[in-house]
Amino acid sequence: MTSFMGMLITIDGPAGSGKSTVSRKLSEKLGIPFLDTGALYRALAFFLHRKNVPSMEGPVLDAELAAVTVKLKTSAVLVNGEDVTQFIRSPRVDAVVSAYAALPSLRRKLLDLQRDQAGELGLIADGRDMGTVVFPWATLKIFLTASQEERALRRWKELRERGESCTLEEVLEEVRRRDRIDSEREVAPLRAAPDAVILDTDGLSIEEVVQRLLDMIAARRNT
Ligand code: C5P
Repeated sequence: MTSFMGMLITIDGPAGSGKSTVSRKLSEKLGIPFLDTGALYRALAFFLHRKNVPSMEGPVLDAELAAVTVKLKTSAVLVNGEDVTQFIRSPRVDAVVSAYAALPSLRRKLLDLQRDQAGELGLIADGRDMGTVVFPWATLKIFLTASQEERALRRWKELRERGESCTLEEVLEEVRRRDRIDSEREVAPLRAAPDAVILDTDGLSIEEVVQRLLDMIAARRNT
């Protein structure tokens, strides 16, 4: 069997494009660790929002960022030693995370932590700027997309399964809002790297997306 060890694969795309689910499955199949960078932004946003730190640059934010520690453990994110994983996927965090993620000092804070995860085993990194900013030297860059309607439907089903009560219209509005902020921000906007392979996942099942990516990865491995 071909070894995929050491490959650095980036998977970028908008909210609800299936990045995290697909990355997790690829990680299991290929034996390469997986990094969900959205979890890092969500963890910091959750922490700062809970402390009423406004999402704007300035001395208050600088002091908070200088003092806070963010650590990754298997399937968990710790902020100042507290496991915040169970709090970060809520609609409340959805509503504030993009505003914090647009702040250059916050993005700088997370840059080295993300790069440090790419060890000898390789990495599958999912986010918004993996192929453009964090790992521009990646072996393979994927950009997943899907229509806003399909992404909102996926996210709505996921939230309902978790017992959150919200309407599909609310989730669609939230997806539109986050797309807007993530793509229009000045630093590391959501964008496909020029050398990324773009895959539109509308109408494709997770298994079909995973299979297409496995084929691409195997082809890249053999070149
Ligand atoms: O991927 P997920 O939806 O969990 O990401 C939450 C938010 O974190 C995104 O809407 C975006 O604002 C921010 N983010 C980012 N850069 C990344 C990953 C996430 O700006 N690499």
